[in-house]
Amino acid sequence: MRLVLLGPPGAGKGTQAGVLCRDLQVPHISTGDMLREAIRHATPLGAQAKSYVEKGALVPDDLVIALVEERLLKEDCKNGFILDGFPRTVDQAKSLDAGLHRLKIPLDIVLYFRTSLAVIIRRLSGRRVCGRCGRNYHVVNFKPKMEGVCDACGGQLVQRPDDREETIQERLRVYEEQTAPLIHHYERERILVQVSGDLEAAALNAELTDLFEKRKRLVH
Ligand code: AMP
Repeated sequence: MRLVLLGPPGAGKGTQAGVLCRDLQVPHISTGDMLREAIRHATPLGAQAKSYVEKGALVPDDLVIALVEERLLKEDCKNGFILDGFPRTVDQAKSLDAGLHRLKIPLDIVLYFRTSLAVIIRRLSGRRVCGRCGRNYHVVNFKPKMEGVCDACGGQLVQRPDDREETIQERLRVYEEQTAPLIHHYERERILVQVSGDLEAAALNAELTDLFEKRKRLVH
């Protein structure tokens, strides 16, 4: 199964990808996570990406495309993958389409998480992440057992610099301008499936499980 998760920041793509990748037994490839990790480890890519990520702008296409191309060639992508946060521009989508076409492994589905503005703002402004392992929490919806401390690794929970109010506005502007056109791009390719990003994580997960079960039955 080769999947792309498309939708605004705060739509719940990462949360669903975390569950889906276990169910479908394919890797979860989040360009946001990869870039944050590169920044945390101060790699050359991290140094190039840092200022863009922190101000809510997109990292240049050539850097992100090279990062994803390298990742998709790894052995664990042989049976499929879930791309989360990539592609984010028409040029990224064209490059992905061309690469997968060359390898004769086209995308199966692009899941579009349609999400209302109020939900996006509530999720992003309340999100906290572990500074050590990157795990996500929410101040209301998904609290850690001990306030400010990661359940998984004991690291300190912080707010992502790009989850601050003014940067959220910029990320949403960039999404509308650069990423939303991909909805039509994949509609034209007839692989777009729309789901509601407003649903709570468990409800949306149940819907997605159902969708993949039905598809499996169709294929077999
Ligand atoms: P995310 O965790 O997906 O919200 O991504 C966080 C930030 O990483 C974005 O605001 C961008 O600065 C950068 N980023 C992630 N994916 C991409 C991409 N496909 N193209 C360009 N920049 C990206």
